[in-house]
Amino acid sequence: MATSDAPDAVPSFDTSQPTIARVYDALLGGKDNFAADREGAALYLQYVPDAGRCAIENREALVKGVQYLARSAGIDQFLDIGSGLPTQKNTHEAAQEINPTARVVYVDVDPIVLAHGQALLATNDSTIVVTADLREPQTILDNEEIRQHLDFSRPIALMVVGIHMHFHDDEKPDEWVRTLMDALAPGSYLFITDFVDTGEPLQKNMERAGLESLGNGWIRTPERIEQHFLGMPLVPPGLDFLARWFPEEPDADVPDAAELQPWQRILMAGIAKKE
Ligand code: SAM
Repeated sequence: MATSDAPDAVPSFDTSQPTIARVYDALLGGKDNFAADREGAALYLQYVPDAGRCAIENREALVKGVQYLARSAGIDQFLDIGSGLPTQKNTHEAAQEINPTARVVYVDVDPIVLAHGQALLATNDSTIVVTADLREPQTILDNEEIRQHLDFSRPIALMVVGIHMHFHDDEKPDEWVRTLMDALAPGSYLFITDFVDTGEPLQKNMERAGLESLGNGWIRTPERIEQHFLGMPLVPPGLDFLARWFPEEPDADVPDAAELQPWQRILMAGIAKKE
């Protein structure tokens, strides 16, 4: 595996403040977190007792999306931004199960992801981890390691899964994603999950937990989330709650949204195709 730092570089972590990656890891039941992160996770669980199940369902949606992209859409290159800490099934595992030659770049701003990715990917030459910032999309596009690993003349799946909520609309996250999508070949895809606001109290509680623990974690209307896709057409079934979202089986018999548990109406997913 290649990494963006020397192999023996040991990043230092500020463990006194919670980080998004480590709080999410704590919610998923992982071990790569510190006391401040566990306190952050506890706050989420106080406001949304099923926050851990939301995180697990988000990971399951990530896998469903990658399976669709690798199998049905024939994608063999993945740029997974805000990839998070390695957990049970990761993008490279889901993709390479279907296509062993699939190439994956993990990008995360939190250096702990790089540290743990090194161990996980020591024997996987098709996957690299890079520390970089979505807010500086051009630096991602200019990154030599990424350019050597992915062929930008062919379609790439850009994954921005579980990240938009951490940025306020005033920061214009859609513009960062637009810069990245503009650099991708026709036939590329954009895969997003985000916190939704359809007026339910538990959705608002999720936002409160995020704002109090991390200082971010906003909810958005479905109409606003659709704008993240930059006008590109969504593949069926479109944007939907995670439990109803099966891009490989868009006609699957799914429960009505009203039949879902309230915690299952906190996140939505969608995939769009660049024509
Ligand atoms: N994508 C994974 C998933 O859905 O399971 C992880 C989602 S986790 C909630 C959000 C991740 O985005 C964290 O690992 C965090 O470090 C990362 N992140 C936050 N801000 C970022 C930024 N500006 N650039 C890159 N990654 C970022």
